[in-house]
Amino acid sequence: MRRSPAWLFRRGRWVVPYQAEAAGSTSWEKVADSIEFIPAEYSVKSLPESVAREMLGCEPGDVDRLVGVGLPFEERAGERYFDANDLYNLGMYSGRSTTQPELAFRMLFRFAGRPVEDLLRPKTWDVRVRLECVECAGEAPWHFEEPDVVRFGGRLEDVSRPEPGAGSAQFAARVTTTGARTPIVSPVLRELVREYLEAGYRWQMIPVSMQSDVELVHKLGATSCIAASLFLAERFRAAGYRAQAKRGWFCGVLGGALDLPHACVEVVDDDGALRTVDIAKAQLAARLPDDTEAFRELCLGSVYNKVIPSTASGNEPFGRHECGSPRPAEIHADIRAVRRS
Ligand SMILES: [Zn+2]
Repeated sequence: MRRSPAWLFRRGRWVVPYQAEAAGSTSWEKVADSIEFIPAEYSVKSLPESVAREMLGCEPGDVDRLVGVGLPFEERAGERYFDANDLYNLGMYSGRSTTQPELAFRMLFRFAGRPVEDLLRPKTWDVRVRLECVECAGEAPWHFEEPDVVRFGGRLEDVSRPEPGAGSAQFAARVTTTGARTPIVSPVLRELVREYLEAGYRWQMIPVSMQSDVELVHKLGATSCIAASLFLAERFRAAGYRAQAKRGWFCGVLGGALDLPHACVEVVDDDGALRTVDIAKAQLAARLPDDTEAFRELCLGSVYNKVIPSTASGNEPFGRHECGSPRPAEIHADIRAVRRS
C-alpha cells in the first residue's frame, strides 16, 4: 500500500510537496467517466478555471481534456466556470492522492482509523451559525432548527438565539456531545442496512437541493448523506418501523471549511430504543486505507461525539426568515472544538 504524502495546512488551504510520479499519469477521461456530473438543473458554476486547476493540481491542458469529455462549464467574460461538486468528485476519485479533495477527506476522516473510545467521550463544541436572508423583504422573526443533543446524553449551554430583525442573524451555543455504543438489534433493520451498503451506490458530493431528489441521486448510481438517509428511512418505514431522516452537523477539524452536509436515520428499534444509522459515513470510511471496521460498526445504531444532531428533518432547511422573501435563507455554521483545561 502506498503511503499518503505529507500534507501541510498553509494560508488557509491544504498543500503537498510536488510529486512527479503522481502528477504525470492521471487519465482524466477515465476519472470523468467514473463519476456523475451534477445535472444542469442543480449545477451552480461558480468556480473559475484557476481554482479548478488548483483543486485538482492539474495543467490547463487537463481542464481542456475534462471539458472535452463532458465536464459542464459556463463561460463568463472569457473565463470558464465550474460546479464545486463536480470538481470535488473529480479530485476525490482521481486516484492521485494529492488533490485538495482527497487531502481534505483524509484529514476529516483521520479519526475513523483510531480507537473508537475517543468518539464515545463527552466533547464540547463552540457553535456559531449565521443566518442570512439574501433578498430580505424586511423585519421578521427567524426560525432556526437548533442542536438537539439532550436526547442523546448531550448538553446545550450559553445559548443565544436569533432575535427578530432583517437581513441576518446569529445563533450561538456551547454544545456538548457524547457517544454510546448501542448497535441495532433488529435483524430486519440490519438486513436493510446491509442491502444498501452492498448495492454499490457510490458516494459523491451532491448539492443539498438535489439530495432531496432521492430517486434521481440513486438512479445515477450515486449516494450522499441526506439522500441515503431519506432513502433508508423510507425502507425502514416500509418494513413497519418508525423512522425519520434527520439533519445535523458533522464536526471536523477544518472549522467548517469543508462543509459536508450531514444526515442520519433515527429509527425505533425492536427493543423500543431510538437508534441512529449514519449510513453514508460508513460508506465513506470504507474508502480509507486504514482499518475502519470499528467506526463503521459504530455508524450502525450508535451515537458518537463528532455529530451534532438537529431538530431539522432530512429534507428541511436548518432555518428560514419569515419576511416572505422567495429566496431561502443561507445558513453558515462555524463549529470549533473547545479545549478544556
Ligand atoms: Zn428576510
